[in-house]
Amino acid sequence: MTNIYSLAVEGVQKLIPYKAGKPIEELERELGISNIIKLASNENPLGIGEKACAAIQNAIADLALYPDGSGFDLKNALAKKYALTSEQITLGNGSNEILELVARAFVTPENEVIFSQHAFAVYPIVTQAVGAKAVVTPAINYGHDLNAMLASVTAKTRVVFIANPNNPTGTLLKQEAVEHFISMLPNHVLCVLDEAYFEFVSQTESVDSVSWLQQFPNLIITRTFSKAYGLAGLRVGYSLSSVEIADLLNRVRQPFNNNSLALVAAEAALNDAEHVRATVENNALGMTQLTDDFKELGLTWIPSAGNFVSVDLRQEGLPIYEKLLRKGVIVRPVGVYEMPNFLRISVGTPTENAKFLTALKEVLADV
Ligand SMILES: *Cc1c(COP(=O)(O)O)cnc(C)c1O
Repeated sequence: MTNIYSLAVEGVQKLIPYKAGKPIEELERELGISNIIKLASNENPLGIGEKACAAIQNAIADLALYPDGSGFDLKNALAKKYALTSEQITLGNGSNEILELVARAFVTPENEVIFSQHAFAVYPIVTQAVGAKAVVTPAINYGHDLNAMLASVTAKTRVVFIANPNNPTGTLLKQEAVEHFISMLPNHVLCVLDEAYFEFVSQTESVDSVSWLQQFPNLIITRTFSKAYGLAGLRVGYSLSSVEIADLLNRVRQPFNNNSLALVAAEAALNDAEHVRATVENNALGMTQLTDDFKELGLTWIPSAGNFVSVDLRQEGLPIYEKLLRKGVIVRPVGVYEMPNFLRISVGTPTENAKFLTALKEVLADV
């Protein structure tokens, strides 16, 4: 009898699926406890904004109709925001889909794809799914080593993934360093600059990557509505690129990859500056709340530019994670990122952060 696994394309046979943060409902079922908090997936602790919520209510009546497959209104709103043309924008079912579209449109099994150690887990998945070779460069201080990445470029390289800030480390590269890096890439290499946490950074530092699109036809910037905009459940992300790249990405995407509610909610969220402002403010306060207590506990952490922080427990993180679960707090183990002694904590509301910190103190006092 044929082993079905042997029929799958080679990359898929060896693929280890992405492991998401444990859902609250699952933990409730397993442990029979309630009031669980989830600080595991970098979601917005303030939830969806009022404007996005209202837009969804209004759009429900039209759900029998297919969505606008071109995403006309949302693309126009994004084009206006960034002073680009809508032909430069590609919408994805989350920015994760964009990462996959890039691999499908540009990468063959003969190609190499470069990304850093400790970088976002979706890069190896999309690379392997198309059967390409992943070239992983060692990190410096948990961040990307751009020189090492540049030195790894060969004639076979087709894509380089840069996460800025990176998840799960939160490390941030300087804008000048990234710009220089892209300028040094040969013409046959695309740079995907993953800025999923852009909104958190742009409030404190200048981010000028969008202006680089004029110089670099091989640049693809990806951003998302999942983090600062609080729409992770709706799955909307996008890329900004040259018209040519957007054209190619649009050829491989499904015609209705964004549902109607996602399209209207994202457009409304773009106009809800107040919700993003409150989100970023809550994040800054929460980051201080968490790291102040880490310091008190004698723990070190990786300084983070995102809405999460990876803390070094100086012992296996997984048992601590399990004990935190039992106290109703879901955080993220990062062993798959070669960081077995760390746990990644998403910044929550002040109450959620306090509940996590109390649980952490109890767990650490126990061992
Ligand atoms: C969360 C995240 C994304 C995107 O998530 P989507 O929900 O698919 O938009 C992309 N890159 C990084 C580094 C992330 O952490």
